[in-house]
Amino acid sequence: GKRRERTFGKTAALLPAAASCTDSSDDETSPRDKQQKNSKGSSDFCVKNIKQAEFGLLDVEEMPALMALRKRAQGEKPLAGAKIVGCTHITAQTAVLMETLGALGAQCRWAACNIYSTLNEVAAALAESGFPVFAWKGESEDDFWWCIDRCVNVEGWQPNMILDDGGDLTHWIYKKYPNMFKKIKGIVEESVTGVHRLYQLSKAGKLCVPAMNVNDSVTKQKFDNLYCCRESILDGLKRTTDMMFGGKQVVVCGYGEVGKGCCAALKAMGSIVYVTEIDPICALQACMDGFRLVKLNEVIRQVDIVITCTGNKNVVTREHLDRMKNSCIVCNMGHSNTEIDVASLRTPELTWERVRSQVDHVIWPDGKRIVLLAEGRLLNLSCSTVPTFVLSITATTQALALIELYNAPEGRYKQDVYLLPKKMGNHAPTAFCSCLLGWEGALGRAGHWHSWEGALGRAGHWHSWEGPLGRAGHWHSWEGALGPAQGLSASCCSPVPPVESRGCLRVQGCPVGSVPGMGPHPCQQLPQQSPLLGTLWAEWAFGGSWAF
Ligand code: NAD
Repeated sequence: GKRRERTFGKTAALLPAAASCTDSSDDETSPRDKQQKNSKGSSDFCVKNIKQAEFGLLDVEEMPALMALRKRAQGEKPLAGAKIVGCTHITAQTAVLMETLGALGAQCRWAACNIYSTLNEVAAALAESGFPVFAWKGESEDDFWWCIDRCVNVEGWQPNMILDDGGDLTHWIYKKYPNMFKKIKGIVEESVTGVHRLYQLSKAGKLCVPAMNVNDSVTKQKFDNLYCCRESILDGLKRTTDMMFGGKQVVVCGYGEVGKGCCAALKAMGSIVYVTEIDPICALQACMDGFRLVKLNEVIRQVDIVITCTGNKNVVTREHLDRMKNSCIVCNMGHSNTEIDVASLRTPELTWERVRSQVDHVIWPDGKRIVLLAEGRLLNLSCSTVPTFVLSITATTQALALIELYNAPEGRYKQDVYLLPKKMGNHAPTAFCSCLLGWEGALGRAGHWHSWEGALGRAGHWHSWEGPLGRAGHWHSWEGALGPAQGLSASCCSPVPPVESRGCLRVQGCPVGSVPGMGPHPCQQLPQQSPLLGTLWAEWAFGGSWAF
């Protein structure tokens, strides 16, 4: 193909030239044992192979929200003086995020939040351009913590902001360097798992700085979880197994945002899709969307593929694995690798056979084998790439959350967990709409980036953009028409309830409370009612036999 000469930093552009799941870095030496220097002589990084840097550079054209943010805020440098320690998936999109943070004035040090998802070429490109990055694909557990420690434990440098995905970095600092929190202004957390850990800290009275829950921002939920997974589930399965989807029986565990995306993609490809759920509202949604609601036990013998996306643990147990049919493919789209009880498969009577990168056959004594992908870790991030367009929204939301926490006046945020103020959350979808629909014309030009919302001219509820498009039929659109008080983001800028009691926050499932004139947001008014109603409907429709 065409080769281009570029230098990193000119147009904020990084993308792996080749998918890293086929990475053939054959060098067996641990990166920890190598002496590496970038071309400027710095060795403050640890990556698989610094020589791969040039392959990490390629133009990314689909990151309009980050680019717009950079353009808008560059003069102001809202992150001047920020020292950000980050622990996220190290992908091309993260690289553009880091470069953006740099352009806004921050210094960054970075580790990976997943031992498989690092794109070695991108990590090398970042190291080459001077970012202290400590990550490579295929880290051991020990490497993982070593990398995090190298980011945090540096002479003459102390972080004052944390950007975390999964909570491991936050946990490490709490455990090893609690004093660092004296200087830290805030934590931005990306994943449902990490947010859950923050709430636990908060509940125990141990959260000592404000934290921003990016996971529950509307932009993240819809774009990153739903659409991103809808796009990447098939890719991950295809690249690892070359399977055909039509006619295959698939069970998807969990019908949250990620589950909805997976189910939609598989259904579109002609698969027969079953869903398991424990939440009555999501269960009902699965039915309404045309999926068969089942208990895992009922279908486990017959299905060709099992996909977990619950954020829960031990959803697929050894007993389930024992009962699967020969050649059943098992994989996970949830954050943590405990959704499938992979540890229970490491027993003497079972044989593990690595058939290719990220694909293991686990073989029973009678010859039955199952196909386990990425050892039960996140399939799409381990085995495929995810759409830049979608991840750019998340990256922008993270950057905005960092800017907000870093610049917030004393007292705006307490030692609690917050959602990104709605005003700021609008930035990313707005930039996307302008890119997709040429919509910016309708907005006019916004001045100072803080006043972005004003430019919308409407209440600022992010759904309101559907208005100009006509009644799109997307059922969320009517919510905007009811006024901002009804929406998910009603609780923006105020502490949100802990994950356990979040039932109503999935506004999709609040048919009762969303009726105009009902008064306060249903979450405050009818905490139990709407799940109950969902249960009643589901029982009516399915005789109560669906529950997990
Ligand atoms: P969610 O809370 O919207 O959905 C999870 C659903 O699983 C809920 O409806 C819950 O009731 C259900 N559930 C819980 N335990 C269950 C069980 N034992 N059996 C059946 N259903 C069960 O969360 P989400 O946004 O869909 O995220 C799910 C997971 O995916 C999280 O771990 C999240 O971090 C991860 N995630 C992955 C990606 C990716 O790219 N692969 C992207 C975003 C989030």
